[in-house]
Amino acid sequence: MNSNLTSHTQNAAECISFSFLFYYSKFSLLLCSECHIALFSDTFSSHVKSHYKQHAEKEKQRELLSQISSLSLFTAAETFALIQQSSMTVFAFSELDVHKNAFSCNLCHQVLMNKENMKKHCSKNHASNFKHTVTSSILAQSLLKNSFFFQVQARSLSTVSNIASVRIVPK
Ligand SMILES: [Zn+2]
Ligand SMILES: [Zn+2]
Repeated sequence: MNSNLTSHTQNAAECISFSFLFYYSKFSLLLCSECHIALFSDTFSSHVKSHYKQHAEKEKQRELLSQISSLSLFTAAETFALIQQSSMTVFAFSELDVHKNAFSCNLCHQVLMNKENMKKHCSKNHASNFKHTVTSSILAQSLLKNSFFFQVQARSLSTVSNIASVRIVPK
């Protein structure tokens, strides 16, 4: 794993900005840099409106909505599938929070935030392989507040120093 680490493919190269919104076309991912959240086909419109409460700003709101209405956007689940299927290295999106010490299952690459949940995941899904299941402490970001976590690579090497491999042993 991590064979793509030296890849020069940066998500940033694919980023288009619309005011405070940033669109990563490779993943059809629209991020709000002010709220540090991802927006989806079913949520972007109400979210943009929430940024323009003053009547005087309605024109700006209309303009931004018309700009992003031409983008291809999906639901959180569909966008998550796009990220999972991508073979390219995903570098941390600067608009989203980075969760340190997330765990990735080395057998199925599921990312979870907590070691106990990872233990449950391993015993439930990989019971026969359990002894060979090694999970690593990784960096992750998520599409929704508590779900759709995915592994990311640090943008700078200085944030990588405290990442270690952790072996989860059955009780
Ligand atoms: Zn916002
Ligand atoms: Zn797994």
